[in-house]
Amino acid sequence: MTIEFPLVIDGRWREGSAGACEDVLNPATGDSIGKVAHASMADLDEALDAASRGLREWQAVTPWQRGTVLKGAADRLRADLDAVARIMTREQGKPLAEARAEVTRSAEFLEWGGEQARRITGRTLQGRDAGNSILVETHPVGVVAAFTPWNFPMALAAKKFAGALGAGCSIICKPSEETPGSVLALVRALLDAGVPPAAVAVVFGRPEEVSGYLIPAPAVAKITFTGSIPVGKLLAAAAGRVMKPVTMELGGHAPTIVCGDVDPEKAADFLARAKFANAGQICLSPTRFFVEEGVRERFTARMVEHAKAWRVGDGTDPQTQMGPLANERRVQAVSQLVEDARTRGATVAAGGGRIGNHGFFYAPTVLTDVPGGAEILRSEPFGPVAPILPFSDEAAMLEQANGLEFGLSAYVFTHDAARQRRLKDALQFGSVGLNDVVTHPPEVPLGGWKESGYGTEGGTEILAPYQKTKFVSIR
Ligand code: NAD
Repeated sequence: MTIEFPLVIDGRWREGSAGACEDVLNPATGDSIGKVAHASMADLDEALDAASRGLREWQAVTPWQRGTVLKGAADRLRADLDAVARIMTREQGKPLAEARAEVTRSAEFLEWGGEQARRITGRTLQGRDAGNSILVETHPVGVVAAFTPWNFPMALAAKKFAGALGAGCSIICKPSEETPGSVLALVRALLDAGVPPAAVAVVFGRPEEVSGYLIPAPAVAKITFTGSIPVGKLLAAAAGRVMKPVTMELGGHAPTIVCGDVDPEKAADFLARAKFANAGQICLSPTRFFVEEGVRERFTARMVEHAKAWRVGDGTDPQTQMGPLANERRVQAVSQLVEDARTRGATVAAGGGRIGNHGFFYAPTVLTDVPGGAEILRSEPFGPVAPILPFSDEAAMLEQANGLEFGLSAYVFTHDAARQRRLKDALQFGSVGLNDVVTHPPEVPLGGWKESGYGTEGGTEILAPYQKTKFVSIR
């Protein structure tokens, strides 16, 4: 096979039947690391047929055994941690330490989905009269079509595989074509652990063509997507036309409120790490820094210090703290947001430009004096940019913090218990960090409010999006 990143359909790793493919680039160099196969409509039909068969096979496997298989896949990922992390860094750019953490998190999700499978129950009710009783049964929803992005190419897919497979569904995943190797490694672990070949498929192609074909396909029962709000709206609308349930994990623009009673240097030390993790390409990343006047100067100075000293480089270099952005598109988008702010009068206190002339590196950036009209205050930067916005009036700041269509995560730094309670209650977001930033361990449900999405992933309810109920009345 001449293709480095093949399709996986019915256990066969192969090229697309029409021979189409595209280059996958290493973001640290801009060079091709191989070709990813594109699925033709005939290939998608084959994946749909296999998934219907895989659904029958996999739902016949007992939940207890599904738990064993998913744990086995998790163990395989852990055993291959370094090799898999290298695949991820090469195609996504993040430092190896972050890639290793992501592989570990992915294994945890698979394990958690398997554990929850073992807890699937129904319930019985006494009927309204002596001759009647009622069973409430839980069934897998059916074939799942999953669309996953490039920023956490393995973990964001692992959540969907864990929930779908735990529930007894089969799944066809279309990962980002820019980071194909991570999901292929995940699926290799699942197949090696004993998931029936027909129950998992990986397809690539032109995203709008693949989703346009899979969403209305009669075999598909459930859609799940992680990515941007505009694409989420398109996919949700397509699913709505055929009345299929969807889970949407979309973007965020996290207000990060630093109050006057905290140690500003300590807060900046903590927040710089959170801000520059994965080069800021995290939907939960702190993105709008509301800093109370009394600590603004010291907080800003320390953030600037960090931004200037942060070690940016190839993710495979152990010294690297921040890798490149994942693709050229991100460099352009981040550059435009910073240029827009600068033209409107913002001060670029650190960074503010591309680094080098190969690869997709962008400097850790701190913006101050950002005027209200700047686009970055409305659009998610999804890059290593920290706009610092001073505040003195809490109510006005809160209005601004809650004033966007995003509702994914928000952060509050204060030791004042009353203020913590007040702000946590007032923030209209699906997750809030108090003197903390949020990551997503499998044991908690994560979901956005407002346009950041609907439904949740993870938690004891991880299987619920992939289940349907049936009640049986018995006389
Ligand atoms: P994009 O909106 O073009 O694509 C986002 C993802 O959706 C990609 O993985 C892409 O392959 C996929 N996609 C695009 N069109 C699709 C379609 N019609 N059908 C199915 N899948 C489709 O944006 P991008 O340039 O890749 O990423 C930038 C933006 O995406 C960021 O600003 C951020 O808001 C968002 N994003 C969010 C997350 C998240 O974790 N919520 C992850 C990645 C990207």
